[in-house]
Amino acid sequence: MARYRDANCKLCRREGEKLFLKGARCMTDKCAIERRQYAPGQHGQSMRRKVSAYGLQLREKQKVRRTYGLLEKQFKNYFKKADARTGITGENLVQMLERRLDNLVYRLGFAPSRKAARQLVRHRHITINGRIMDIPSYQVNPNEVIRIKEKSKKLDMIHAALKIGRGDEIPWLRLNKAALEGELLEIPKRSEIPLTANEQLIVELYSK
Ligand code: SF4
Repeated sequence: MARYRDANCKLCRREGEKLFLKGARCMTDKCAIERRQYAPGQHGQSMRRKVSAYGLQLREKQKVRRTYGLLEKQFKNYFKKADARTGITGENLVQMLERRLDNLVYRLGFAPSRKAARQLVRHRHITINGRIMDIPSYQVNPNEVIRIKEKSKKLDMIHAALKIGRGDEIPWLRLNKAALEGELLEIPKRSEIPLTANEQLIVELYSK
């Protein structure tokens, strides 16, 4: 499957904010955003031109897409599904992205980044209601139990991630660190999702 292979930190620098793509490093002063507060590339340090409305919409879309680690086609498919549902399209979109299994494994704190969470899922370390689930895009339903597989409970990466994770501070998640399991208690409202983005700009971009 196609995937992004360039440096993750370039993505943050392009968007001008931390997207938390590299786990513990993102919390330290080694973070590239802390050290180089300009866009990557030859013209990254040159004066910024006035950004058009389209430019703002595009950047917002790229920021959210990169935060969740999706390719353009995957992201557009989420938008189409969100648009087809009743309710507010932007809120539907963010809720669907949040319900992805790799995102919830990351939010619960079992992995230091969404990328690492995706690998945990793909490598069959995660179960849903006791059955192995190796599809990172699986849409988790409320009250389904996400658990680390018994044989995988000793993985150092998981325990190191749990030390920096904040899964127990998210009100719509239940985390049991001792049992290495968690649960989506309810589908969160947009205001409860820790994502700094204006999804309305994405709706405007794709509605042209
Ligand atoms: Fe982004 Fe993390 Fe790299 Fe900082 S260290 S630029 S937050 S990926």
